[in-house]
Amino acid sequence: MLDRTDSPRPLPADAALRARAASVIPGGLWGHMNAARMPADFPQFFSGAEGCRIRDADGNEYVDFMCAYGPMALGYRDPEVEAAAAAALAKGEVGNGPSPVLVDLAELLVDTIPHADWAMFQKNGTDATTACVTIARAGTGRRKILVARGSYHGAVPWCTPSLAGVTAEDRAHLVEFDYNDVATLRAAAEAAGADFAGLIVSAFRHDARKKQEMPTPEFARAARAVCDAAGAALIIDDVRAGFRLHVGGSWEPYGVRPDLSAWSKAIANGWPLAAVTGNDRFREAATQIFVTGSFWCGAAAMAAALVSIRRYRETDAIPHMAAMGERLRAGIAAQAAAHGVALSQTGPAQMPMVLFDDDEDLAKGFCFVSAALQRGVYLHPWHNMFLSAAHRPEDIDFALEATDAALAEVARRFG
Ligand code: PMP
Repeated sequence: MLDRTDSPRPLPADAALRARAASVIPGGLWGHMNAARMPADFPQFFSGAEGCRIRDADGNEYVDFMCAYGPMALGYRDPEVEAAAAAALAKGEVGNGPSPVLVDLAELLVDTIPHADWAMFQKNGTDATTACVTIARAGTGRRKILVARGSYHGAVPWCTPSLAGVTAEDRAHLVEFDYNDVATLRAAAEAAGADFAGLIVSAFRHDARKKQEMPTPEFARAARAVCDAAGAALIIDDVRAGFRLHVGGSWEPYGVRPDLSAWSKAIANGWPLAAVTGNDRFREAATQIFVTGSFWCGAAAMAAALVSIRRYRETDAIPHMAAMGERLRAGIAAQAAAHGVALSQTGPAQMPMVLFDDDEDLAKGFCFVSAALQRGVYLHPWHNMFLSAAHRPEDIDFALEATDAALAEVARRFG
């Protein structure tokens, strides 16, 4: 692992901010953006972004392959999205009720997403997944929720990965199965029995530090079938993959439609918004539950979402992200072969994960991303990455120059 003394490019402004943060923010930062879990030469603080480029607090620029962990999909500060949000902001962000844009956006989602008969809005992905689970329970009058072992659905007690501060009661009605394993899925449904309220499943298997897996068609169909047999709700957590794989929902290509879906991240190209979409079977339940938030009706993010979703529908944004991901993947594969480095590249090309073989401690991964970072390319060693519509072929080729040098460094250090 590199430490900062190895870094040819010290980050004094970042270091100063981290030192100040350490005394006034627990751990220096909560959650996944705490750079303490990254190689030591990774910046934690950023001062700006445009297109597919980000600038750290010290003024260094990188071609970015994290896209703010997903929210950016059309480019940072996309002019059309920003103009729509600014126009909404100019009229007032909050009021005693929502702006008319809320109805426009619900209509657009219902028109865009085949399973959706209605939509509700929140701010974060966790708000949406939690609302889906609550609606499933309200609609069925049952308690058990089937969830894939190790999958991420948010950061509140029913689903957060850390058990600190979580009670056994918070998790009492979760029944686990293994992603893509129909036998354990059926066994979980059987164990839930007459108390089976819903099944929540991510669009594909995108667990941190693991090879990604697309759902098999058998698994997707079995998920629908076990819910239908029990009268339970099929919930797709499309928070991370939504609007990057298919504009109508990530399981559309499988012909499997959920009862409820959770959306966030790319929905408004970086503006804070989440949504639940559902079918008529769960409309009454969605009416019964009480959910709200002081900022959930903010107009700017909804105006940004209207523009963003229209762009996902009407332009080649999604196939373009896939094509850029394929270009990156093919280049890295050829370079890895040339350098004799064994690695896997998994998941959809527009949400790639690169993991090195025999790299339990991530030493190779850290070496790789640090060497790329020093050449102006921001990659991630153990989380899936993200392509955007703002990545151009020349950005991918610039990145490939960096990955070539980085893979040479991995080969040199690890043989
Ligand atoms: N579900 C999935 C699949 C996610 O990737 C995330 C966020 N990484 C969430 C839920 C929670 O979203 P948020 O962090 O916006 O609450």
